[in-house]
Amino acid sequence: MRIIILGPPGAGKGTQAKVVADSLGIAHIASGDLLRDHQERGTKLGSMARSYMQQGLLVPDDVIIGMIEERLHSSDAQRGYVLDGFPRTLEQARALDKTMEKEGQRIDLAVNIRVSEKELIRRLGGRLVCRRCQRPYHEVSSPPRKRGVCDECGGELYQREDDTSEAVRRRIQVYAKQTAPLIQYYYERGGLVEIDGEGSIDEVRDSLLKTMPKAGV
Ligand code: ADP
Ligand code: ADP
Ligand code: ZN
Repeated sequence: MRIIILGPPGAGKGTQAKVVADSLGIAHIASGDLLRDHQERGTKLGSMARSYMQQGLLVPDDVIIGMIEERLHSSDAQRGYVLDGFPRTLEQARALDKTMEKEGQRIDLAVNIRVSEKELIRRLGGRLVCRRCQRPYHEVSSPPRKRGVCDECGGELYQREDDTSEAVRRRIQVYAKQTAPLIQYYYERGGLVEIDGEGSIDEVRDSLLKTMPKAGV
């Protein structure tokens, strides 16, 4: 299974992609997590991406495409994957199609998670993320059992530096201009499913898993 999760920042892509990947036993590949990992490790790519991310702008296509292609070739991605946060531009989508075509593969499903702008702002304003395993939490909607500590790995929870109100506003604008056109792109190719992302985390998970009958989940 090769799945793409689309949706604006704060839609719940990371939260849901992890659930889907775990239940199907496939890799969860999140472009934002990979970029933050590069920053932690102090790589050239990480320091180059940093100022774009802080401002809520997209990192240049060629950099992202190279990083994702490398990840798609790693051994744990061979059984399938859930892509979260990539592609984010038409150029990225076309590059992905080209790579997959070369390898005789295709995307099985693209799911768009729809959430209103007001709710996105509420979610991102209260988001906390685990420094170690990157699992997202929310101060109100999805708090950890112990304040400041990840339920899953015991890692420290922190607020992302691009979850400030200014960067959030910019990211939502960037999404509307550069990423929303991908909905039409995948719709035209067939295999796009849209789900309502406004319900609780469990409700959204159930609608998402219902779109995957083939996987027998
Ligand atoms: P994305 O990867 O699309 O930016 P996340 O999965 O990181 O989104 O979720 C953004 C924030 O919203 C997190 O704080 C997360 O805990 C919270 N969240 C995710 N899904 C829901 C939901 N269905 N209802 C309420 N809060 C949610
Ligand atoms: P969100 O949870 O808000 O959807 P991500 O963690 O996916 O955010 O991404 C954080 C930032 O990383 C983006 O604002 C952007 O700067 C950069 N980024 C992530 N994925 C991509 C991509 N596919 N193309 C360009 N920039 C990206
Ligand atoms: Zn953790």
